[in-house]
Amino acid sequence: MTFRIGLGFDAHEFEEGKPLYLGGILIKHHEGLKGHSDGDVLLHAITDALLSAIGEPDIGELFSDKDVRWKNASSEIFLKEALRRTREKGYSIVNLDCVLVLDSPKISPLKSAIVENLSKIMQVDKSCISIKGKTREGFCKEKGVVCYCVILLSHEG
Ligand SMILES: [Zn+2]
Repeated sequence: MTFRIGLGFDAHEFEEGKPLYLGGILIKHHEGLKGHSDGDVLLHAITDALLSAIGEPDIGELFSDKDVRWKNASSEIFLKEALRRTREKGYSIVNLDCVLVLDSPKISPLKSAIVENLSKIMQVDKSCISIKGKTREGFCKEKGVVCYCVILLSHEG
């Protein structure tokens, strides 16, 4: 059995009046995340973690923000392509651990819906997915959301 680890990072600024998507879920909030696609910072970080674990080009190279096909696109498309490449290379997901850095909205009441949705998209058990929200503790002014994610993959043989 061999293992590969992948680290993903992403950050998006808030924009007034945009819908907020986190982990593929539409969240009631007065502002959303700026971006060429739907701005789903969590799905972007997971996509990049998967792609780097399997040695593929990163999300910006595969889905350029200059490409009109990805304008306002659902980020599930990016994650599903990364998952397809992961499985094509014979890897399975062992676990996924994500940290969202933001002051609002609070992540704890949204956590189970996000984990449920990620489990459905990624076809992994909910017990293998961890999401936590962390605030900035007031040390810098909030302008957006930052996300870190690590993923562990295994391969038979
Ligand atoms: Zn992004």
